[in-house]
Amino acid sequence: MIYLKSHNEILKIRAACQIVGQLLDLLSNMIEPGISTWELDHFAESFIRDSGGKPAFEGYQIPGLKPFPGTLCTSPNSVIVHGFPSKKVILKEGDIIGIDVGAIKDGYYGDAARTYAVGKVSEEASRLMEVTRTALSKGISAAVDGARVGDISYAIGSYITEQGYFAADDLTGHGVGRELHEDPQIPNTGRRGYGPRLQAGMTLAIEPMVNIGTNRVKEKGWEFSVADGSLSAHFEHSILVTNAEAEILTKA
Ligand code: MG
Repeated sequence: MIYLKSHNEILKIRAACQIVGQLLDLLSNMIEPGISTWELDHFAESFIRDSGGKPAFEGYQIPGLKPFPGTLCTSPNSVIVHGFPSKKVILKEGDIIGIDVGAIKDGYYGDAARTYAVGKVSEEASRLMEVTRTALSKGISAAVDGARVGDISYAIGSYITEQGYFAADDLTGHGVGRELHEDPQIPNTGRRGYGPRLQAGMTLAIEPMVNIGTNRVKEKGWEFSVADGSLSAHFEHSILVTNAEAEILTKA
């Protein structure tokens, strides 16, 4: 079911998205060698609650796994998504760390992610982050009223391939708003002109996950990593499809 949101719903989704966008900005000042992902998670939970929201990932259920234990997904280096925050995961100089966060406020959701450099990172790591960020903006540019989901997927996937990298298999973006994950799925590779048609009033979470060495992923419980151990980056925004350029809702 693809929901078109009313003006009133969009106001609420925008408010939830603002919490997420502001939080991701604040986290950039905290990310440095020596901090644990648990400390980041602790800060994130307080910030969301102080903003009148609730963490959207905490307690999230996937059949066969224990409920998600934190506010943030914290995914270092070759972890693609869904890493657990932990006191044992201490960031070190040269790491990259993907942070994905969702908030719910007044019954509506916002969802976004960023990958951060910890101190000074390799040229390879910063190029990967730059390519992933650009892949996201290409996907957002393709999200216009009248286009199709495949146009977003193609914009993201063809750019990643051109740059010599790989979109992680089976991990996709999604509709967002009334629920954390709504239809349509938004794959990070695909064909122009295929898939559901986009309409003004849709709210979508677009999220390229880009690996250096291979598209293949390995799953361990919640955690998805790159099969060959190479680096992976992840950027995500929740956006509103309009009659003109999409509005980025999770930009602080
Ligand atoms: Mg998402």
